[in-house]
Amino acid sequence: MANSEPCLKHMVTRVAINGFGTIGKRVADAVDAQDDMEIVGVTKTRPSFGCDLAVKKNFPLFCTFDSQEKIDAFAEAGYDCQGGLSDLLSICDVIVDCSPGKVGSENLEKYREAGVKSIFQGGEKHELTGKSYTSSANHLDNIGVDCTRVVSCNTTGLSRTLVPLFESIQDKGTLSVNSVMIRRAADPGDSSKGPINAIKPVLKVPSHHGPDLMTVKQEIEITSLAVAVPTTIMHLHAITVELPSNHGLSTKSVIEMWRKTPRVIVMNGTDTKITSTAEVMELARDIGRKWGDLHEIFVWEDGVSLQGNKLYYFQAIHQESDVIPENVDAIRAMMDIEKDWMISVEKTDKAISAYYGL
Ligand code: NAD
Repeated sequence: MANSEPCLKHMVTRVAINGFGTIGKRVADAVDAQDDMEIVGVTKTRPSFGCDLAVKKNFPLFCTFDSQEKIDAFAEAGYDCQGGLSDLLSICDVIVDCSPGKVGSENLEKYREAGVKSIFQGGEKHELTGKSYTSSANHLDNIGVDCTRVVSCNTTGLSRTLVPLFESIQDKGTLSVNSVMIRRAADPGDSSKGPINAIKPVLKVPSHHGPDLMTVKQEIEITSLAVAVPTTIMHLHAITVELPSNHGLSTKSVIEMWRKTPRVIVMNGTDTKITSTAEVMELARDIGRKWGDLHEIFVWEDGVSLQGNKLYYFQAIHQESDVIPENVDAIRAMMDIEKDWMISVEKTDKAISAYYGL
C-alpha cells in the first residue's frame, strides 16, 4: 500500500467504495458497522439521488472520475464532493469495487497504480483478479492478497450449502452437482431489464453459475442451467447432488448440518407457511435489516430429500444482499486481520445486527 502506513494488525482498516449503487451502499453500511474498519469515502459517477444517502450517512463523497468538470458538477448540484478517485485512493487501504460488471479491468489498473488493495464483485470474471472469495470456501487462500473477487450472489449461495456438504464427505469422495438457477429478471430498483411476461432460458449451457463455484472450491464438480423469470425479489436454486455411495448421511443429518452452518436459515415451509420467495422476503422484512435484506441463504426443510446417493433441495437467494457480509470477511482476509473464517463471520454478523439494533 504505497499511500498508507503499513497496516498493523488490529489497526482500523480504511475502506473506500467505488460505485455506491445496489451493492456499494450495502457494503458501506456493513463496513461502517465493524469496529476494525471504517468508510473513508464512497464514489458516485454524477450527482444523482444516491448522493443523498451518502450525505445522510456522513460518508465522504467522491467522484468516480478525476475530471475536474465532473467533480465540479457535484457542487453545482449542492453536494460536497471531496475530489476524484485518485484522491480517494490516496487515503484508503482497500477499495471495494462495486461498479457495474465488466468495467473492472479499467478500474483495477488505477488501483494497482495507486498501490491499493482491491475487491471486485461477481459481475467480473475470475480471470480479472486470479482469486475469488467466499467466507466458507477459501478465506485462508485470500490472506494478505492484493486483489480478489467476491463471487456472485448465486455462487455465494451455492458455496454456503455445498461447501459444508462437501466437507462432511470429503474423506469418502466428492460431490457431483447439478443446479437449476431460477433467476430474478431484475433487481427491484431496475426498470430497464426483463423479461416481464416470459420464462427466458440462458442458452449458454452450462450457465456460468455452477462452474464459478469451482473458483473457490475446485474439488466440487458442478454444472448448472439458468432461466430468468419475471420476479424481482429472489433467485431460487433447485439442486441435485450425487454423493459418494458410502456417504453415511441421512436427510435429517444434512438438515441438522445446515442448521449449524453460518448464514444459512432452514425452515419448514409447510409448518411456517413460508412456501415461496414472497414469504421469505416478508420474513426478511420482519427481521429488520435495512432494505429488507436477507444475508442468509434460505433452505426449505421439507424440500430436502436424500434418496440413495442423490440429495435434492431448494434454496432461495436474496441477490442484493447475501454477498454483503462476505465483502467484510474478504477485507479481513486481505488485510490479514483474521485468519479463522468462522471468527470473522461471527464478528461481521454480530456487528451488523448491533448496527441495525437487532
Ligand atoms: P448498480 O448499477 O446498482 O451500481 C453500480 C454503481 O457503480 C452505480 O452507482 C454506478 O453509477 C457506478 N458506476 C458506473 N460506472 C462506474 C465506474 N466506471 N467505476 C465505478 N463505479 C461506476 O450495480 P450493482 O447491482 O450494485 O452491481 C455491482 C456489482 O455487484 C456487479 O459486478 C454485479 O454483478 C455485482 N452483484 C450484483 C448483485 C445484485 O443483485 N445487484 C448481486 C451480487 C453481485
